[in-house]
Amino acid sequence: MAQQQPASSKPETVEQFHWPDGKRAAVSLSFDDARTSQVDTGLALLAAHHMKVTFFLQANNIAKRLDGWKKAVAEGHEIGNHTVTHPCTGNYAFSRHNALEDYSLAMMAEQLDGANAEIERQLGVKPRTFAYPCGLKFVGRGLDARSYVPLVAERFVVGRGYLDESANDPAFTDLAQAMGTPFDNLTFDQMKGLVDDAVKEGRWIIFVGHEIGPRGFQVTDAAALGELCDYLNDPAHGIWVGTVAKVGDYVRQQQAHGGGSAAEVERGR
Ligand SMILES: [Zn+2]
Repeated sequence: MAQQQPASSKPETVEQFHWPDGKRAAVSLSFDDARTSQVDTGLALLAAHHMKVTFFLQANNIAKRLDGWKKAVAEGHEIGNHTVTHPCTGNYAFSRHNALEDYSLAMMAEQLDGANAEIERQLGVKPRTFAYPCGLKFVGRGLDARSYVPLVAERFVVGRGYLDESANDPAFTDLAQAMGTPFDNLTFDQMKGLVDDAVKEGRWIIFVGHEIGPRGFQVTDAAALGELCDYLNDPAHGIWVGTVAKVGDYVRQQQAHGGGSAAEVERGR
């Protein structure tokens, strides 16, 4: 394929996909589980840095900071769905009695719809995006295991994974299982490095954090987060910063209207 292109052409992955306003990459910041530090520490920090993010709420945690989550909505943050009870593999001790291995697709559908109903009831917004708990996308075991990606695809604009080792190629990515990049326990320089790689390749990086505070296991460093917000907001860096729904809507529209990869264009799509 490559040898058929003029020598001056750009790398295949970005050739036909254009971010709005000449931007070179997209970045979304997301935080999972409705951890209390996201409200207690995160909201003021994000407001000070003029940053809108996506909070993927585990519905049965909302009540711990109900007023805070209402404030997050009022301040323009996106609220996404992260199920009601956060089922993961039973290999994690915390999920042993709420294990995906013991779930059916019907039970998972209840988790998705139940969380949407609870979020809508408590916060007055209907989630349009979803984050897979632990980044896992199956129910059942062995021959009876099934993917629940289709349940997500029929309900949400974006389903976001976790612990993924690449940012999203916007021309190719399946929005129902978009890649999620770990955000916790990083220094600012490490965050910046990941963003700069995304810029080089025209990609969409969706960061996934948990607590917000002093850097550590499952904690996104508050000071580094502030620095990153300033970096992302500097127009000189050419980065489009948007919530997961906002960027997802754009990617979906571009994919539907021929913003495909160079390879797809050559195949006559
Ligand atoms: Zn989670």
